[in-house]
Amino acid sequence: MPIYEYFCQDCEKSFALLQQVGANEENTICSECNSKNVKKKFSTFSSASSSSSGFAPAASHGSGGA
Ligand SMILES: [Zn+2]
Repeated sequence: MPIYEYFCQDCEKSFALLQQVGANEENTICSECNSKNVKKKFSTFSSASSSSSGFAPAASHGSGGA
């Protein structure tokens, strides 16, 4: 599961949560003040698993124009 960073707009604290993919702010409650007024942060993203080659080039389908 990825770690999502949130920022509480009520107590102005940042916290990180292990959540399932696709979790929303509506599903998140501040760990400090139990407020639901939180915002998801997209700043730091550290992938723990080291993938050998996860980069795939853009698949050109061969249909060239003209
Ligand atoms: Zn809070």
